[in-house]
Amino acid sequence: MSSDLYLKQMELGPMANFVYLIGSRRTHEAAVVDPAWDVRQILEVAAEDEMRIKHLIITHSHPDHINGVEEMLHRTDAQVYLHKAEAEFHRAMWSNMVKTDGGDTLRLGDLTITFVHTPGHTPGSQCFAIDDKLVSGDTLFIGSCGRTDFPGGDAATMYQTLTRVLAKFDDTTWLYPGHNYADVPISTLGYERRTNPTMQFADLQSFLRVMGRPGSVTLS
Ligand SMILES: [Zn+2]
Repeated sequence: MSSDLYLKQMELGPMANFVYLIGSRRTHEAAVVDPAWDVRQILEVAAEDEMRIKHLIITHSHPDHINGVEEMLHRTDAQVYLHKAEAEFHRAMWSNMVKTDGGDTLRLGDLTITFVHTPGHTPGSQCFAIDDKLVSGDTLFIGSCGRTDFPGGDAATMYQTLTRVLAKFDDTTWLYPGHNYADVPISTLGYERRTNPTMQFADLQSFLRVMGRPGSVTLS
């Protein structure tokens, strides 16, 4: 656990996206998770809190999560971090782009952000682990998981992500999702394992029966 952590959650845009600022209180360096919708506001919050934006870390390439990247690159000298499979899927190239892989890390002051490859919603979806927190993009929401019926989505892969990849994080891990779809903004993985319908399936077949259908219980 590090007292160096600065973390701010902002709800922006018509789809209730959560944009995060993650920074070091010691060095004032910060990363923006999924810069979108209102770059001016993100920059204002960072300036008020005396944070310098050095990195843009992208959970996945759907437009509602990246529509501020270009503007952010014009207004800062930040580097963009996108999973290598997502870079291939999305085909967009930004300046200053770093292709990431699961297990890669990024240092911010005393903090380490670990990139976790969590495919299913898209091929190169990634979550970010910092201390006892997981920023989950559209992989896991409070009470649901990301849709798998968009291009690049895959329900069987999502099942592996939910049951194997996220299994490495214990019940006390705080969950910071990519959209404000619930009546609270954060949760824990333990609470989601007990209550989230998408985490209750006994096996892949029963998961696919419900989640493999377009327009079922999932959200964007
Ligand atoms: Zn998405």
